[in-house]
Amino acid sequence: MKKITKSEIRAVVDESYEKFKDEVGGKNADYIPFLAGVDSSLFGIAIALPDGDIIEKGDTSYVFGIESISKVPTAILAMEHYSAQEVMQKIGADATGLPFNSIMAILLENDHPSTPLVNSGAISAASMIKPVGDSDAKWRAITGFMAELCGSELVLLEKLYESESETNYNNRSIAWLLKNYDRIYDNPDLALDLYTRGCSLGVTARQLAIAGATVACRGVNPTTKKQVFKAENTTKVISLISTVGFYEHTGDWMYESGIPAKTGVGGGIMGIVPSGATPGGFGIAAFSPPLDSSGNSVRAQSSIKYIAQRLGINLFDSQEIVIEK
Ligand code: GLU
Repeated sequence: MKKITKSEIRAVVDESYEKFKDEVGGKNADYIPFLAGVDSSLFGIAIALPDGDIIEKGDTSYVFGIESISKVPTAILAMEHYSAQEVMQKIGADATGLPFNSIMAILLENDHPSTPLVNSGAISAASMIKPVGDSDAKWRAITGFMAELCGSELVLLEKLYESESETNYNNRSIAWLLKNYDRIYDNPDLALDLYTRGCSLGVTARQLAIAGATVACRGVNPTTKKQVFKAENTTKVISLISTVGFYEHTGDWMYESGIPAKTGVGGGIMGIVPSGATPGGFGIAAFSPPLDSSGNSVRAQSSIKYIAQRLGINLFDSQEIVIEK
């Protein structure tokens, strides 16, 4: 069983911040014009512990675009509204090995959109959210759930939403291609718009750390103590994150960090240290806009990896198993 003190965690977070705050490399996403204009020097790290305490450093209250990290709450909500099994049947749980917005991936696996954590599967998951056909009520369901997961409301970044809606031609093609394969369970334009709005919500590293901790703590938000989703969906969502959280570089990430994590092109990463790996489990998030070539924040990756290594945390290594006679 692994024991770590809060002061050790605090010291390692500070160390990691100092080590990577001046790291250069990567550039802001520019295929969504709004994101290109965000200050590239922003950097923050936050850890949410199972008792609700937050350890943080840097720009952890800066509000940035959640982008693809929103795919995680939508996937959980689809599991809640249907079941993990039905999400598996309707969408799937396979990594595509291809970029997040790949149309080729849909063509190659035309029997399902692969996983709710790439664009195709996320648009499909948005289409599943109940009540089908009612855009406003679906939006309330998604934002209400995100607020419970993060412990506080997320605000829509209107300028990001406009910027993304004006330029999302590739995602429009995905929505209609999925319709062609009967993998959209509502109006395709409605599903696409919900997905785009979800990506345009503003979030802080602190909120992401709390959301990660809520997943790590089997659906109980450690800051509000509320059970916000069914405990039984925890292993399903963590398995999705472990297999495709970093898109086509997920294998490299898991090999090097041992921490299931989901990235977004806004520069955020939400990591989950499940309770199997350390008592209670916790959430770890980092944010910095410059991205590598597959759309993952450079400084956020370095800092989370460093913290995991220094604390000796690894999903594949830390479970205590006692086999009794
Ligand atoms: N809204 C972005 C898109 O659909 C999200 C991509 C990401 O964060 O990976 O292109």
